[in-house]
Amino acid sequence: MKIGVLALQGDFDAHRKRLEQLGAEVVLVKRPEQLDHIEGLVIPGGESGAFLKILGEQGFEKLKEFVRLKPTFGTCAGAIMLAKEITNPDQPGLGALDIRIRRNAYGRQIDSSIRTGETALPGGPIEMVFIRAPKIERVGPGVEVIATEGRDKDPVAVRQGRVMAATFHPELSQDTRVHRAFLDLVNNGNSH
Ligand code: GLN
Repeated sequence: MKIGVLALQGDFDAHRKRLEQLGAEVVLVKRPEQLDHIEGLVIPGGESGAFLKILGEQGFEKLKEFVRLKPTFGTCAGAIMLAKEITNPDQPGLGALDIRIRRNAYGRQIDSSIRTGETALPGGPIEMVFIRAPKIERVGPGVEVIATEGRDKDPVAVRQGRVMAATFHPELSQDTRVHRAFLDLVNNGNSH
């Protein structure tokens, strides 16, 4: 199974390692045409504003077409990219997930932390590494929440059809469940 990791900027290499550990063949995607040769895509953490600049209008449109058709998993900046509505500041999104997401939502003091949250994935609570994380502020009716965090049970991982996103960084924890869930999604074909 060939999985692409968008490798424009950010922590793409940690995803590459994790996916390879789970037996996937990984392609580091640096040019839009590489999207034609992969079965699923991971959009890593980094700076979503920088992703937009590097992609340019054409790259963005090509990526938008890809995420409409093929399984995609975004973490942190990648989750921001996949959203329909983005605030703080407003910026365009790929619109694959019916969510509103607020960039850098936790302020400077607590901008990075390791916490334990709840997940619907089998195996119980999961470690979550947050780095200048966004916050999912609205979840549309077609969106399934697959992990929550904190007293208010903030949604921190979601899925809509063949698209998944997490506001934390599962590629930086030992736990492989989130990436496994994504590979299952790719394997199970593109239902929903
Ligand atoms: N703060 C970044 C953004 O707004 C996301 C941070 C991350 O990916 N670790 O795009």
